[in-house]
Amino acid sequence: MYRKENIKQISESDKVWDIAVIGGGSSGLGVALDAVSRGLSVALFEKSDFAKGTSSRSTKLVHGGVRYLAQGDVFLVFEALKERGRLLRNAPHLAHNQSFVIPIYTFFDRIKYTIGLKMYDWMAGKLSLGKSSFISKSKTIERLPTIKQEGLKGGVIYHDGQFDDARLALNIAQTCDEKGVAILNYFKVNQLNKDDKGKITGLSVKDQFSKNNYDIRAKMVVNATGVFADKILQLDNPDAKKMIRPSQGIHLVLDRSFLSGEDALMIPETSDGRVLFAVPWHDKIVVGTTDTMRKKPKLEPAALEKEIDFVLATAQEYLTKKPQRSDVLSVYAGLRPLAAPTDESEKTKEISRSHKVIVSDSNLITLTGGKWTTFRKMGEDTVEYFTKITGEKLNDSTSADIKIQAYSNDEPIDYLGVYGSDRKAIKTLQEENPEWNAPLHPKYPYTQAEVIFACRNEMAMKVEDVLARRIRILFLDAQASIDMAPKVAELMAKEFGKEEAWIDKQLKDFNKLAMRYLISS
Ligand SMILES: Cc1cc2nc3c(=O)[nH]c(=O)nc-3n(C[C@H](O)[C@H](O)[C@H](O)COP(=O)(O)OP(=O)(O)OC[C@H]3O[C@@H](n4cnc5c(N)ncnc54)[C@H](O)[C@@H]3O)c2cc1C
Repeated sequence: MYRKENIKQISESDKVWDIAVIGGGSSGLGVALDAVSRGLSVALFEKSDFAKGTSSRSTKLVHGGVRYLAQGDVFLVFEALKERGRLLRNAPHLAHNQSFVIPIYTFFDRIKYTIGLKMYDWMAGKLSLGKSSFISKSKTIERLPTIKQEGLKGGVIYHDGQFDDARLALNIAQTCDEKGVAILNYFKVNQLNKDDKGKITGLSVKDQFSKNNYDIRAKMVVNATGVFADKILQLDNPDAKKMIRPSQGIHLVLDRSFLSGEDALMIPETSDGRVLFAVPWHDKIVVGTTDTMRKKPKLEPAALEKEIDFVLATAQEYLTKKPQRSDVLSVYAGLRPLAAPTDESEKTKEISRSHKVIVSDSNLITLTGGKWTTFRKMGEDTVEYFTKITGEKLNDSTSADIKIQAYSNDEPIDYLGVYGSDRKAIKTLQEENPEWNAPLHPKYPYTQAEVIFACRNEMAMKVEDVLARRIRILFLDAQASIDMAPKVAELMAKEFGKEEAWIDKQLKDFNKLAMRYLISS
């Protein structure tokens, strides 16, 4: 994925792209992947880094959504279970089968969750990841040694998928790039161009580094900007009605000892009626989430104190090793791009989580809602509008069968397992340059070679890109990421031929950002 080459591609002034996509999160990437699978020419622009928005801030589940089943949204669950199966098949290096245990404290819950999860299994059909079953109290304690034992009657085990969201976004971006998509990060769309009938003919983008502007001609333009969708809709029509209500969810990252064992914990009904997950991820535990309405979309939303208190209190209620504020290694917040309800009194929990595709009078296509798990299907449903917009024939989608870049079915032998087949390239970098074998932090296995790899192959442009979304350490341990930043900046500066001033600015920006992921005791 070479930025310079992709910039060259979009500089051809007479080129008319079939589809131009705005947004490099899971939705935009799903559109690009599906479009290129049908032989269409595609350009994709992301104003920041790939997955900088919501797509790096999820609970890391590839799931049908047990909660949606409880709400009776059967169609959504069927669709997501199918996509779950496809994602685990096409990106096994990043998405795997995860067992979950629901602790059971009442007879009624035993019946409810045993039957509910049997139905979940049945709905997954051939794509089921394993049978759910009720287990005894002693088995539950064996599997979840830190679970609250008072009143415990047993547990229900079920299976879902678990993944690394930002790394999947990168590997999808690379897959698109390999198939010819001109894909660029740090390119902001700031104008939609139209003909004299008011129909969209393309867009204007600005390189956030060189400040150069480019006019892109495209037959169809897709707005896949998540919680920022209204901003693009207002570029299209300043009077456009607001469609999005950002709903914030936060996660706390804790040491693995708070939930030892291989299983994830699912609390189906917290005191605010939500689901709480505690999921093993990169040798830590991710605990969340919340559902708090926010007024404005933000690329770097901040967790509210009341959200932190709520997640901690719920975790303390169910775990015998009770996490305190000082145990939180990192806190991150993300915004769900929920479609605004027509009735203002509607609560976020009741807004459907299925995706929507909207066509504006100008032919702008907007994709909103949905979830990471269904990114490909969301892309497929959006690209289906191509014929309606252009009148041109569309080939069948083949995105369901595309193996994602770095695909590898090998059992991971170390932390580099998430790099799939790219592990070899990192090992080669280490062998050929033994100095890059040096760890970036005494507590963690990451080496300097991953930084070089991120610069050369993964379009990392800033220190933040490496520490937040290539190596996930900002999300795993914010203080450790601050400690690593100077070495990462130095390596990147050497790789890119940058001066001392660049290093200073990068460190200043990164430290300011990373402080937001730390919480005071
Ligand atoms: C707390 C939380 C937990 C979740 N957990 C899960 C989960 O476990 N599993 C699951 O399947 N789903 C989960 N989801 C849902 C999932 O994460 C989102 O549905 C998905 O990431 C949304 O992706 P997106 O591409 O629509 O938005 P984003 O990822 O926000 O991407 C939009 C992108 O558009 C870019 N952009 C905006 N304006 C412009 C412009 N003018 N020019 C160029 N680019 C622009 C932004 O920079 C941004 O990167 C969760 C969501 C939240 C909030």
